[in-house]
Amino acid sequence: MPIDLHTHSSISDGTESPADLLATAQAAGLDVVALTDHDTTAGWPIAEEARPRGLTVVPGMEMSCRWFPDDQPPISVHLLAYLFDPTHPGFAAERARLRDERLERGERIVLRLEAEGYPVRWDTIVERSNGGVVGRPHIARALVDAGVVDSVDHAFATLLHPRSPYYVTKVDTDVREGIGLVRAAGGVPVFAHGLATKRGRSVGDDAIAAMVDAGLLGLEVDHPDHSADARAHLRGLAADLDLIVTGSSDYHGTNKTTAIGVCTTDPEQFEAILAAGTGGAPFRD
Ligand code: AMP
Ligand code: FE
Ligand code: FE
Ligand code: ZN
Repeated sequence: MPIDLHTHSSISDGTESPADLLATAQAAGLDVVALTDHDTTAGWPIAEEARPRGLTVVPGMEMSCRWFPDDQPPISVHLLAYLFDPTHPGFAAERARLRDERLERGERIVLRLEAEGYPVRWDTIVERSNGGVVGRPHIARALVDAGVVDSVDHAFATLLHPRSPYYVTKVDTDVREGIGLVRAAGGVPVFAHGLATKRGRSVGDDAIAAMVDAGLLGLEVDHPDHSADARAHLRGLAADLDLIVTGSSDYHGTNKTTAIGVCTTDPEQFEAILAAGTGGAPFRD
């Protein structure tokens, strides 16, 4: 019973529509897939409508958050959230703020690139996103299309890296506040790819302990960007802290080389998520 609890559609920075994503999930032999677009639930009704028979779809989201270390600038962290009530007003307002923040910040990155002569235009990027949630992958795609870099990965390793002069940070939610909002809306918060070091700085165990104090319920342990050591470390922490353990692909269509279902979640762990999520239910037969 393969279960993949982290995927992105073209509603955010994946390349497949929710319907195509679900078809891909089923063709890959998955029984359960979670739709976890960045900072939006706009794909949920579309996925519910398009769901092929036999496939269970978990409504979810990946929330853009920050951790504030004592002695360093904030660190970007991603929080997966499952089965929450999308109409919870405080949570809905914070998601809307994050989407606005993405638009402002994306435009600032593109203006910096344009000022240096890179042939990218913000209005074209927004148009191509089809009203979806814009992120750096959309800018990366534009750079590939313009022939500036040869791949999305290359764009992230160079011009769009957090250490690049063109990079602009987002004012993301304090992760403890994010966890509080997910729980208030009846959802299940899971810390996404916590030790994916190629994305930039990662947090220490102190941060994870503080997140647990704030109501965190799970850790994404198996993820394509986690080394074997990272997985072992997170699995140990999850055991010590009595947390749910997930494994997921973080599929983004052709914006990443990762195939859907390359990492999966154990059925007992999925059952624990279903038991903890009181704000919504999966779409299933
Ligand atoms: P943003 O949310 O705008 O800061 O962009 C972050 C997103 O970029 C992540 O959610 C990933 O989808 C994507 N991303 C991060 N690193 C890479 C990479 N090396 N190659 C391709 N996509 C990446
Ligand atoms: Fe993404
Ligand atoms: Fe992420
Ligand atoms: Zn993701």
